Order: sequence, then structure tokens, then C-alpha cells
Amino acid sequence: MNSSDAREVVRLESVRKIYGTSRNTVTALDDVSIGLERGTFTAVMGPSGSGKSTFLQCAAGLDRPTSGTVHLDGADLGPLGERALTKLRRERIGFIFQAFNLLPALTVLDNVTLPLRLAGRRADKAAVREVLERVGLEGRQGSRPGELSGGQQQRVAIARALIARPAVIFGDEPTGALDTSTARDVLALLREAVQQAEQTIVMVTHDPVAAAHADRVLFLADGRLVDSLDRPTAGLVADRMTNLGAWSRTPAAQGGNR
Ligand code: ADP
Repeated sequence: MNSSDAREVVRLESVRKIYGTSRNTVTALDDVSIGLERGTFTAVMGPSGSGKSTFLQCAAGLDRPTSGTVHLDGADLGPLGERALTKLRRERIGFIFQAFNLLPALTVLDNVTLPLRLAGRRADKAAVREVLERVGLEGRQGSRPGELSGGQQQRVAIARALIARPAVIFGDEPTGALDTSTARDVLALLREAVQQAEQTIVMVTHDPVAAAHADRVLFLADGRLVDSLDRPTAGLVADRMTNLGAWSRTPAAQGGNR
């Protein structure tokens, strides 16, 4: 492994994902190869049905590619059985979802420390305090999710993802349920985790403004990685998205998924 490989936290090589039966198949991912480096923030964009969720599921070991390989933090996910995969997800991956996915009966503190406890690790009090401070929830340790705003709930989810210092955090439309200004705060928080703690983040979004917070945007169309944009701005991302729409309507692209 050379030094550039060592910096890669996620590596997909020739990943293909085909859903369905032999008579009726959908190629959700079509020969996707990409490496994501430690301490980078990547947004994944594309039209509806372009394979964004499938990309995230395969990269995070939640689903298995039909062919190709996925390496996460140096580990080849292919040969791992379900138990080993679950263990790896608990220990090395953080997740942030659109719907927050907090447990309503648990306090903020217990929600945040749950992944550690599931992984059989002790929750260091100082570390918990620090992470709650970072997301601006100091003093809310004893609250339940139902007593918090949407933005605060997503901050709890971010604290929960950060506390275990995972190799990578995957976000599935993490700002999709938030208003514009709350979304901006949450994205700034993710940006800060990348910059200050070398956290690696991969986020699926359909929002060019959200994608503009990333270091790099990957564009999917019909299951293929068709473009990328470094140091994105919302305007440039929106332009590329418009062109992608045109791209996916070309006859070649339409034939590509059959
Ligand atoms: P996106 O997240 O960009 O909307 P998805 O990854 O959800 O795209 O889907 C990519 C393609 O794969 C779509 O055509 C979708 O209908 C299909 N697909 C996704 N999941 C399944 C599944 N479990 N079974 C069959 N087809 C699926």
C-alpha cells in the first residue's frame, strides 16, 4: 500500500450493484471506482434514482455490491460475514440520517453514548462533555429528543456520530428536514469536524447549497460517476446538476442502464 492509499479511508473499486431478478434488473451502480481521503468532506449528488443511496449503502457496508470491492479504513468488506460487518460499522462508522433516528425514551446523554456502549466501550465523561459543547448542547444532557428542536436533534445525532471518532461519517440528506438557517449551522458543524478533527464525512444530498459545504462533490447519473467538482460553490453545483439532467436524457445514457 503506498502513502496515497493509506490516506484513503474509503475505496470503491469497480463497484456494480444490480437489483432485481434476471428478467427485470436495475443497475443501480455501474462500475464505480473512487477513493476518499481522510479528513475530507465529500458530497454525493445526482438526480433521483441515480444511485446515491445505493452508493452510500455499499460504501458503508450496509449493502453488498453485486461485484467489485469496497475497502473501509483498510479493511476489505467483501469477505466479512454479517457479524464482522456489524462490528466494523459500530466501531468505525458514524451515521447521520435525515430523520435523526434518536431513541425518544433516552436522554441526550444516553443517545450520544449509545454507539460506544453497543461497541462495549466506556463513555469517557470528559469526551462526552467536549462533544456536547462542540455541537452547542452543553446543559441539555438530561433532555429527551421530544423536548428539542429539529436542529438540536440533528446536533445530538452529530454528537452521537462524532463521539466514537469513527473512520468515516456517512450522512443521508442530514439537512433534509431542517430549515435553511438551521441546516447552515449543522453543515458548519460538520465542516468544523473535518477541519479541526480530521473527520472524514460523506454526505448524500440533493441540495446544491448543502453540497457547497463539501471539499468535493461527486455526481452520479444512471449509476455512474460522471463528474466531480472540487471547492464547489452552490452556483457551480446547480449548473452541473442541470447538465446532468441533460446527460441522463441522451440515448447513450438511457441505453446504459438496460
Ligand atoms: P437515489 O438515491 O439517487 O435516488 P437509489 O440508489 O435509491 O437512487 O436507486 C438507484 C436505482 O436502483 C433506482 O432505479 C432504484 O429504483 C433502484 N433500486 C434501489 N433500491 C432498490 C431495491 N432494493 N430493489 C430494486 N431496485 C432498487
